[in-house]
Amino acid sequence: MAISRDDVVTWIKNYAQVINENNEMLTDLDREIGDADHGANMNRGFKAVMTKLPASEDKDIGTVLKSVAMTLLSTVGGAGGPLYSTIFMEAGKVIGPKMEIGLADWYTALQAAATGVANRGKALPNDKTMLDALYPAVDALKRAVDENLPIPEALQVSAEAAHAGMLATIPLVAHKGRASYLGERSAGHQDPGATSTFLLLDTAAKAWADC
Ligand code: ADP
Ligand code: MG
Repeated sequence: MAISRDDVVTWIKNYAQVINENNEMLTDLDREIGDADHGANMNRGFKAVMTKLPASEDKDIGTVLKSVAMTLLSTVGGAGGPLYSTIFMEAGKVIGPKMEIGLADWYTALQAAATGVANRGKALPNDKTMLDALYPAVDALKRAVDENLPIPEALQVSAEAAHAGMLATIPLVAHKGRASYLGERSAGHQDPGATSTFLLLDTAAKAWADC
């Protein structure tokens, strides 16, 4: 089975909904170690994505993802906006004009997304950022591709890996972004960006459960 362009559009729409529902939770996390705007930033960005999506939702997957990236870049400031934009831009570039993708494509796209975020934000693993949810998910997908797992199972294990990575940010001391200004006091709090990244992958696993 495969993940179609329509499946990708559904994932983005569902994520906009999930972000709206988790707006306060994400902002509360960012209040503890940042400036209390991560939920609001993401919600503003994905509300704009919902407005712009009709212009590209009948195009190929690369075009859909790149248009999401452009919208996020122009509507979300701070650190999170450009980094989320990078996720969608790099994934879109790798997938290109395809109308459907397989598990290996999804793995390659997410790997490129993680590399793009790392290049842009210069964060290393365990710096307490969104990468601490993204990298484990990419690693889990790689194993799933090697083991030839069906798409739904592979997405489930990648979401679970992102969840574990998100929880593992709690004891970490932040070395990047606003949370790093707190130094040792950033430990004991879950990273907001790792949380929204887990939600992104969890939403994919749920949206593509029948792929
Ligand atoms: P801001 O920090 O500008 O207020 P947000 O609150 O929207 O932006 O996003 C904060 C999240 O961005 C953090 O929780 C972290 O996951 C992520 N982040 C910040 N800096 C970096 C970076 N250099 N690399 C990767 N992720 C980062
Ligand atoms: Mg913030």
